[in-house]
Amino acid sequence: NMVRGTNRHLMVYNDEMRSRETYSQRLLNDLRKAVERREFKVYYQPKFNIQCDPPRLDSAEALVRWQHPELGLIPPGDFIPLFERNGQIEIIDKYVWAEAARQIAVWKEKYGVTVPVSVNLSRIDMFDPKLEEILDGLVKENGLSGHALRLEVTESAYTENAEELLAVMARLRNKGYEIEMDDFGSGYSSLGALSSMPVDVLKMDRSFVMNIDNDEKDLRLVELILDIARNLRMPVIAEGVETESQLTLLKNAGCDFVQGYCFSRPLPPEEFEAFIARETESNEENRKPVRPVP
Ligand code: C2E
Ligand code: MG
Ligand code: MG
Ligand code: MG
Repeated sequence: NMVRGTNRHLMVYNDEMRSRETYSQRLLNDLRKAVERREFKVYYQPKFNIQCDPPRLDSAEALVRWQHPELGLIPPGDFIPLFERNGQIEIIDKYVWAEAARQIAVWKEKYGVTVPVSVNLSRIDMFDPKLEEILDGLVKENGLSGHALRLEVTESAYTENAEELLAVMARLRNKGYEIEMDDFGSGYSSLGALSSMPVDVLKMDRSFVMNIDNDEKDLRLVELILDIARNLRMPVIAEGVETESQLTLLKNAGCDFVQGYCFSRPLPPEEFEAFIARETESNEENRKPVRPVP
């Protein structure tokens, strides 16, 4: 009986593995066509400054999706790690950066404000010798300042060749790009290194925030991270904030920025515009930038 149960378990597992492999193979095969047919779509999720009352739109994160003709809307978790492993992530990332830079310029033209947009960089992108040239080109072509195109680098990118990586970040930062450390707390970078890291903002990983409204210890941990960041003069963005009570706890603990379903899911650009419109209406007197961009 036990044996049969075990076998059945193994069989299911293998089937699952096989179908996952087929799915991945399919995505890899379809990549080139997808680029040509412009199937990658950039969605935007707002980040809010919650220390303002009411909270103010600060910026957005650009998050890619794949509108596949047969498989539907595919989330990035299904293909980003896959393309990273296969060395093809650059194709997608560069498309997303270009699209985000263009979008900032379109919104500036339409609403008279600069909404900074953060893009995600994979570890591989950080070691591309053309990285600076590409980003500078996008900034120039679209008439932006570097501050308008922000860069998110995930904490797990710091594992190997950390020094080289930090040097790249320092160069980009000196050129005016704001650097956000994504998924902070989920990787293994040491707290001791934090004070000397060339980052402007910490994005606290969703795993810390998830349970603060029903786990006292998680809340204490978040408060501790916020304390450390405050001492280092680093603003913090909490990601994955879903409920009103999480939002209130974070606000009271002094967290500066929030991104999460409590405000909005990532949206296609047309839908995101409602946030910009609302923000510019409430400041109709002078149509000030959402956040002054130097
Ligand atoms: P990330 O950069 O940490 O992005 C935040 C993820 O959290 C997004 O998932 C977002 O939809 C999700 N999220 C935001 N608020 C909430 C919330 O309140 N609750 C929950 N449960 N989730 C929330 P998404 O869009 O599926 O992206 C997943 C990851 O894929 C991203 O994590 C990022 O690492 C990667 N990714 C997305 N777009 C790109 C891209 O253009 N280039 C690269 N290299 N990676 C990307
Ligand atoms: Mg990110
Ligand atoms: Mg993140
Ligand atoms: Mg994350």
